[in-house]
Amino acid sequence: VLTIKNLAKTFGVGTAKASRVLDDISFEVRGGTFVSIVGPSGCGKSTLLNIISGVEEHTSGDISLTSDSGGPARMGYVFQDPRLLPWRSVMRNMMYVQDDQSEATKARARKYLDMVGLAKNADFFPGQLSGGMQQRVGIARAFAVEPDLLLMDEPFSHLDAITARGLRAQLQDIWAQSKKTVVFVTHDVVEAVELSDRIIVLQPGGKIYEDISIDLPRPRRQTDPTVATLQAE
Ligand code: ATP
Ligand code: MG
Repeated sequence: VLTIKNLAKTFGVGTAKASRVLDDISFEVRGGTFVSIVGPSGCGKSTLLNIISGVEEHTSGDISLTSDSGGPARMGYVFQDPRLLPWRSVMRNMMYVQDDQSEATKARARKYLDMVGLAKNADFFPGQLSGGMQQRVGIARAFAVEPDLLLMDEPFSHLDAITARGLRAQLQDIWAQSKKTVVFVTHDVVEAVELSDRIIVLQPGGKIYEDISIDLPRPRRQTDPTVATLQAE
């Protein structure tokens, strides 16, 4: 469970250029939910994610993450660009974020690669894959860590619309099977509605504008939606 209480962030504290980016943010994310954070450019979405991940410090307030297992909480990340090591194969890229290199961990990496349709590309190098395939490796890699919390910052924003649509469907499938807790940042409200149980809207100045549950019937998709959609159209 992720708990955030009265969180605030000001960049440049004590300088003439001090600017408050997040203001009195409070919310709790229960295990197994998919929460999207939406809002206009510059409203503090990435800053909030960076504070949750620990890359950035907050100015005031509390933040805590507890794991279901009782051990230290693990986090997984997917960014706009998948940040693969170009000199390593897909499988090595999957494995270098893992803290053990056991056969069981390798088998799990293979399982998630298979879920994104890239089992046969395990020995390819990133340069031999399309941008969409590289991002699928990034998503599989984050899930393969089996994190208590998975943070995604606009993972589809660099992809064309059709590729993004296919990846969204794949993310829905992989999430439905793993039920990880996800905090997903996007500026695309339609994408947020399609994927999430809940949407937190930030407004400029970094206040929560609203925090709503989404309970729409979402059609199940086929495993290779890109092809299915293209054939349907
Ligand atoms: P986008 O949708 O464009 O990605 P965002 O909602 O993710 O926007 P942030 O990147 O969190 O927005 O930035 C929020 C504000 O904080 C912006 O005004 C930005 O200029 C400012 N900011 C971000 N990082 C820093 C920093 N390291 N130092 C000073 N200001 C920063
Ligand atoms: Mg951002």
